[in-house]
Amino acid sequence: MRDVVKADEGEIYDIELSKDLIEENERIAIENKSLLGAYGIKTIDVMGSIGTGKTTLISSLVQKLKGKYRIAAIAGDLTTTIDADLIARHGVEVVQINTGKECHLDANLVRKAIRKIDLSKINLLFIENVGNLICPAEFPLGSDSRIVVISLTEGPNIVVKHPFVFINSDIVVINKMDLIDVLDVDVRRLERDINEINPKIRVVKASCKNGTGIMETIEALEL
Ligand code: MG
Ligand code: ZN
Repeated sequence: MRDVVKADEGEIYDIELSKDLIEENERIAIENKSLLGAYGIKTIDVMGSIGTGKTTLISSLVQKLKGKYRIAAIAGDLTTTIDADLIARHGVEVVQINTGKECHLDANLVRKAIRKIDLSKINLLFIENVGNLICPAEFPLGSDSRIVVISLTEGPNIVVKHPFVFINSDIVVINKMDLIDVLDVDVRRLERDINEINPKIRVVKASCKNGTGIMETIEALEL
């Protein structure tokens, strides 16, 4: 038998600070949403761990949608501009947010990035969150939809180990389905785990590398 030590709320020493932070973030997120909404812009927040394919998904969506929408993107990363550069190759405006040590985007950083975009010139905005499956869930940015990208390479327990991000999302993209034979992951179990956490979430099986699931993601986003 193994013992389990659990942190009670009162034992997490920065709980008061983080409560204020989260409330302030939510307030700014609402402002972001109403500003973007006033310009008729649909905003999509893309979350997921590093290496799951957030950038590739956004690039594929931009490629398919750039004839129909005027698109911009915001890319979050600690220090690099690698992802922003990849998305910008599709000819859309991209604003990089370098968070330094912060492992998630927050509504204030997104507000700063939005100020750099001519909102009258766009009607679709993708936000690539920092590669992390934990705290982005707690920091709404003011988006209309939230996608979480997971990948078969993350193993069979990725969903049960990170329940919160699935509660707060609208669509899950299970990426890298092209590797299913090599990795031998039980995808039906992943789907079951997701549905148990959030029965309303839409699950799309995809391979952003070969284009599978991109149209289904677009349909799920109602774009
Ligand atoms: Mg990326
Ligand atoms: Zn974080």
